[in-house]
Amino acid sequence: MSTVSSEPETDSVKRSSCSSPSSDEAKAEPLHGLKLASHAPLERAQSAGRLKCPKCGGSRMFYCYTCFSLVGVSQQEIPLVKLPIKIDIIKHPNETDGKSTAVHAKLIAPEDVTVYTYPCIPEYDSDRQNVVLVFPGPESVTVKEMAKQLIELPEKGLSDPTDAPCPKKPRREGEPEEEKCTESQQEICALQRVVFIDSTWNQTNKIITDERLQALLQVELKTRKTCFWRHQRGSPDTYLATIEAIYYFLKDYHMQYLSEEYRGEYDNLLYFFVYLHKLINSAKKAAEMCVAE
Ligand SMILES: [Zn+2]
Repeated sequence: MSTVSSEPETDSVKRSSCSSPSSDEAKAEPLHGLKLASHAPLERAQSAGRLKCPKCGGSRMFYCYTCFSLVGVSQQEIPLVKLPIKIDIIKHPNETDGKSTAVHAKLIAPEDVTVYTYPCIPEYDSDRQNVVLVFPGPESVTVKEMAKQLIELPEKGLSDPTDAPCPKKPRREGEPEEEKCTESQQEICALQRVVFIDSTWNQTNKIITDERLQALLQVELKTRKTCFWRHQRGSPDTYLATIEAIYYFLKDYHMQYLSEEYRGEYDNLLYFFVYLHKLINSAKKAAEMCVAE
């Protein structure tokens, strides 16, 4: 049995489509072949056991999910990833912090990720041609269809109908100067920000009906299945953990719009996820062996 913190273990493994060795999916194991930084710092932190978070004093392992800070691991030991677009994560206030994978994104890509706790969320109305919401709704489009849909979005909801969609939008405070927009590259530069909802399947539906999110184009990641050990019974297996959704979105975006071969640029977003996934699965196997004996 591993000594991993109780958070990842409290909820027993309900299903894991990608860890069943007998299934065909084992061959296409989505977490295999990733370009990840060494997990040695996490192994060391794990053998040291839980420590107090320097900020809130809570007992934590690897990181504090309340303060978004590392615990028992130094910043230099952890990979940092620069993202091509900004990520907003809207967290449901009732979501148990220790179960959320939003913290992984904030730790690995701190410059590009902002976490909001619902109902304190930004107004996106005037940015609707540059922002999408990842959600598997009835009207959602694929990442491939996204750019075209963004350009074709009617300008409803804007107080000034002459407001041009792409070149000049009010920039958020602290946002870097990014003026790569040219006529021929409009598809590439249209998207600047992606919004993810971090909550259980039921709570997501409460957030998605918030009128501040209604203007946004919804994008669905249709082809991926979750490897999350907390996958919720009754929800589709394409309902991904937040960090999985962010990773797959960025990978698709990179291949679709940056016209570059994907070389593992964002794989380290799954740095913590893969490690915890391994721990949970080995703990699960050990438990199964105990039952079998
Ligand atoms: Zn803390």
